Amino acid sequence: MEASSRFLNTELIDRHKAGLNGQLVEKDKDNLFKSITENLVMNNATLVSHYYVDPLIQQITEETNGFIGDSLEMAKFGSNCQTENLIVCGVKFMAETAKILSPQKHIYVPTYESTCSLDLGCPAADLKIMKDKYPERILVVYANTSAEVKAMADWVVTSSIAKEIIEEIHLNDQKILWAPDKYLGSYLQKETGADMLLWDSACVVHEEFKASGLRDLKRLHPDAGILVHPESPSEVISMADAVGSTSHLIKASRDLDFNKFIVATDKSIFYKMAQLSPEKEFFEAPTGGSSSSCKSCAHCPWMGLNSLTNLDECVRTLANEINLNSDLIQQAKIPLDKMISFNV
Ligand code: SF4
Repeated sequence: MEASSRFLNTELIDRHKAGLNGQLVEKDKDNLFKSITENLVMNNATLVSHYYVDPLIQQITEETNGFIGDSLEMAKFGSNCQTENLIVCGVKFMAETAKILSPQKHIYVPTYESTCSLDLGCPAADLKIMKDKYPERILVVYANTSAEVKAMADWVVTSSIAKEIIEEIHLNDQKILWAPDKYLGSYLQKETGADMLLWDSACVVHEEFKASGLRDLKRLHPDAGILVHPESPSEVISMADAVGSTSHLIKASRDLDFNKFIVATDKSIFYKMAQLSPEKEFFEAPTGGSSSSCKSCAHCPWMGLNSLTNLDECVRTLANEINLNSDLIQQAKIPLDKMISFNV
């Protein structure tokens, strides 16, 4: 059987020690928390973090009255937040989205290196060729894409609202060109019956969840509920008690009538799940790799590049600003605004 891990609240502390923040002794952590807190105030800045970043970053985000959420919630929070500067702890497309929706604000990231396999797998020039080949199709792109890709889309969607928007397009008898996540696209196609032509790209984390390992783990814990992000392969999705965005899965972990959950998404989400349901147990869904062949450990390698140390540097010096040209912002804002208005 594939290796898997179980997490309770106390074990999350151990997990910190294994990650990028792992080398930190308690004193370093306290100093970094103090420095980040003071400099956020001094620099009129707010932290906006994704559920997949290191639990210590989620903790400092909460302690400084910042915001943790999925990509749609992060974008909405960014546009309403009052501070002049936003520090986005997540990956590049999230920071770009914040800039597009709030061009008057200064958006910074702890590291420029933090990107996403879906964004990398869908270069704007290649998508343009596909779009030109199928002019009759509505181009719907996932939020995990560059500003350039968003700028050529008819719709941008996040996983929390994708199904509703695809349903609406389908009801209008329109065909869809979908990019870039093939698993999410195929899930939406099955759920809605829409005519969707799918781009061939995947998330390196979710693609590695394996149904065979999940079945083995479920045999060990027959009373556990299964939570799956729809960027996972269809066989894994078919075993789920709840499928959806990170926010949806967090709510399901609180509300569903299970005391144990096997979770097929980035394991940093356990920070929030354990916070909401400290009495429940959470297990990582097994991934495809082990030892030298391991490709995924249920943690996004790019989310993992955000650390307390580079966050502190970013907040102190306001380094790594995201800049986009104003024409690009204007174009990319159109489909993003459509998504946000659809959601109200
Ligand atoms: S978890 Fe997957 S989809 Fe999310 S940022 Fe990482 S590579 Fe991209």
